[in-house]
Amino acid sequence: MVSERIDRIKQTLPEWVRLVAVSKYHPASMIQEAYDGGQRIFGESHVQELVQKYDILPKDIEWHFIGHLQTNKVKYIAPFVSLIHAVDSEHLLREIDKQAKKCGRVIPVLMQVHVAKEETKFGFLPDELLAFMQSGAWQQYENVSIEGLMCMATNTDDEAQIAREFEQAQQLFEMVNAKWLNGKWKTRSWGMSDDYPIAVQHGSNMVRIGSLIFGERVYG
Ligand SMILES: *Cc1c(COP(=O)(O)O)cnc(C)c1O
Repeated sequence: MVSERIDRIKQTLPEWVRLVAVSKYHPASMIQEAYDGGQRIFGESHVQELVQKYDILPKDIEWHFIGHLQTNKVKYIAPFVSLIHAVDSEHLLREIDKQAKKCGRVIPVLMQVHVAKEETKFGFLPDELLAFMQSGAWQQYENVSIEGLMCMATNTDDEAQIAREFEQAQQLFEMVNAKWLNGKWKTRSWGMSDDYPIAVQHGSNMVRIGSLIFGERVYG
């Protein structure tokens, strides 16, 4: 059933859009089911849960950490994580760099930009991100590879607002990529179960979909 849902979603996605199956709060058995159907990219947002699943599931899974990451927990996922989506401070970037160095790795990351009209979402404000890029401070971290942007839209039924927020992220991506990266950035991670079709219309090439694949999450 999980695999059928993944296939159905994939049929609606352009071929250049990668699907991160967000498996947080769902058991390893469901991930295995999706894996058996061919899915290889999974997203988690709690360190302990991710480490437990990593230990027991196939080693060719690409694990993405998609949630807010506390600096003191980076060390637990640094040995194996494939992409950290939500770098929201230089402090976190520095810690990822440090732990990656210890593992002899270069860890791919995305910068999280705050475009939503909600107080609670993490991330750099657009102006803060531009200032950070302008400072050049990011260039000193040799064991991280910054590959693009991640954002979350406001949780609202107003599709025009969601579209505007993704569009803002898209424009920021283009600007940063042209000005400081020579076009090297490649990943635009936006879109979840409720808004991914809008995200894909506004520049996304990586969607993070959970409940539409695995069903509602049971917390606690
Ligand atoms: C949980 C989560 C998702 C998936 O949300 P769904 O609405 O279940 O698709 C995507 N991105 C982030 C950052 C999340 O924490």
